[in-house]
Amino acid sequence: MPRVLITGITGQDGGYLTAQLLAEGAQVHGLVHGQDETAAAFQAAFPSVTVHVGDLADSDALRRLVAEIEPDELYNLAGVTSVAFSWEQPVLTAQLNGVAAAVLFQAALQLQERTGRRVSCVQASSSEIFGVALAFPQDESTPVRPVSPYGAAKAYAHHMAGVFRSKGLHVASCILFNHESPRRQTTFVTRKITATAARIGAEGSGMLRLGNLDARRDWGWAPDYVDAMVRAARHEVGDDFVIATGRTHTVEEFAECALRHAGVGDAWRDHIEVDPELLRPMDTAVMVGNAAKARRELGWEPNLDFEEVVGRMVDHDMQLLRAGS
Ligand code: GDP
Repeated sequence: MPRVLITGITGQDGGYLTAQLLAEGAQVHGLVHGQDETAAAFQAAFPSVTVHVGDLADSDALRRLVAEIEPDELYNLAGVTSVAFSWEQPVLTAQLNGVAAAVLFQAALQLQERTGRRVSCVQASSSEIFGVALAFPQDESTPVRPVSPYGAAKAYAHHMAGVFRSKGLHVASCILFNHESPRRQTTFVTRKITATAARIGAEGSGMLRLGNLDARRDWGWAPDYVDAMVRAARHEVGDDFVIATGRTHTVEEFAECALRHAGVGDAWRDHIEVDPELLRPMDTAVMVGNAAKARRELGWEPNLDFEEVVGRMVDHDMQLLRAGS
């Protein structure tokens, strides 16, 4: 069974990936930033995982970690996760979402050359690398032209995946479109909507304050996207794969679906308010991916549709309210 190293293991995708790999019998190691509450909760949920405390910005420590663990598979999920935050910290975003990936690929290649064993790397890339895309839907051949610090840093890592692939490293760059779950943080519009909708449904009053209601996203189910990354790691060759549902919805449609699911009915519109403060300086208006290559070559397909994703997230938030947290 493979030995696996996951950076960003305590994040949304890290949790689902850990659960999937442990179920297969893999030996899982994870990198966490500090011994904080998140790390403690993760360790309690997954006691068999070996957790390593380290800073993604400390390149020497990262290299040592890869050399020491000698993973068969390396999933790079770590970094700044919010486009909005990347505008506040563009340099930190470059270090964590860009440079750290290159450090990991180099360390993986050195390990492969030293041991003669294949080290499969998966880079969690993002649809944000396409920025304001000229082609719809976006696929692996769509020009990379990011419009946010987050997208630019992810674009660098995506290009470095290709560079190291040409040096003989098995690197898959999974260009993940938005993927959501009850584990999403409320800094993302989806979880913000479902958490607020659950409260409005329970209390019968309240407002959902949003920015751009017309933004369109291709929203999928996070565990499906994690499954795609595992398939990409085990594919014969490292390659680029767009992972997406191919269907888009607006922020307003997401809000309507969530409010209706929470029991607000036709009055859903009365609970939405646009706050100009929440509009972004640069926003990607429409993102929609074509995952035909992943379907064809990885045998991947999404299991949950839009309504099910929204419904599961609202159900979870209603349960949290009932549990009093
Ligand atoms: P992103 O696609 O990775 O940036 O994911 P987000 O969930 O943060 O944002 C998705 C879209 O929702 C973007 O186009 C935002 O401009 C839009 N949006 C509208 N209102 C809000 C809001 O209140 N919060 C956030 N985070 N995004 C919002």
